Amino acid sequence: QVKSSGRGGLAVHDLRGADGAADRLRLLQELRTALAEDQFRLHFQPRVRLSDGSTTGVEALVRWQHPERGLLRPEAFIEVAEASGLIREIGAWVLDGAVAQAAVWNAAGAGAQVSVNISTRQLNDPDLVLLVTSALARHGVPAAQVVLEITETALMVDPDAALVTLRALAELGMQVAVDDFGTGYASLTYLQRFPVHELKIDRSFVARVVDSASDRAIVGACVHLARSLGLVSVAEGVETREQRDALVSLGCDLAQGYLFSPPRPPGPHP
Ligand code: C2E
Ligand code: MG
Ligand code: MG
Ligand code: MG
Repeated sequence: QVKSSGRGGLAVHDLRGADGAADRLRLLQELRTALAEDQFRLHFQPRVRLSDGSTTGVEALVRWQHPERGLLRPEAFIEVAEASGLIREIGAWVLDGAVAQAAVWNAAGAGAQVSVNISTRQLNDPDLVLLVTSALARHGVPAAQVVLEITETALMVDPDAALVTLRALAELGMQVAVDDFGTGYASLTYLQRFPVHELKIDRSFVARVVDSASDRAIVGACVHLARSLGLVSVAEGVETREQRDALVSLGCDLAQGYLFSPPRPPGPHP
């Protein structure tokens, strides 16, 4: 194939495609090793109440301590993990680790809500509810202390199936946040029917909340929507005081971002 098309653009393109596949395969093998050799880590980022600056909880964010490439963020591996199905094992590890850390903080008298990200494939895994309940039981953590973050896009892949899962989680006392809100296409009808507790306003809107009137209007609309549905509004990716002040004036409830703290390895307090 490569020989017959000589030095034409097509051949180069084919080779690149093969290279990409080889890279993905290597990454997949390394991810299996990472699971077996315990190379994943959890970092935690606080979420604060905008009215008084108090920390109301933390979000667990997975990292990969790669033996050669250093500490990797999820963008370097989550997609391959999701496509291959390995996300089930990584996700189970994350859930157990986040709940275990909540138990450690509880024991130190510093209990806080811990939010955990759930991918599309995990949401559609029939074992999700069992996985969560067994992690809670194993570490003696109450269901109300865990928030599952599910992206708007993941919820809309199969909204009717998602509704069944969300109802089961809600019955157990679990809270659910709609992550990256505003970037997907959740219909208001579903939003109203889903038993969710939080709307996390996507970072892309927050980034422009000061300079762009239309982004400010979108953030304001999200805050109002959350309030009228009885949900908590959370702004993601707050980096500046000007952004924080704009969010305060728009009535947003909670915020997360580098202004308050980057994600960090777990300390003695959340
Ligand atoms: P997310 O759930 O929306 O998480 C927020 C992302 O924004 C995190 O990136 C966080 O480090 C970053 N961030 C926080 N504050 C700021 C800020 O002020 N400015 C900017 N520019 N960024 C900020 P991270 O940790 O790289 O995670 C990226 C995404 O990967 C997450 O987005 C989430 O969708 C996914 N992810 C992370 N951990 C897990 C996990 O354990 N399981 C699954 N399935 N997905 C995960
Ligand atoms: Mg999240
Ligand atoms: Mg998000
Ligand atoms: Mg995101």
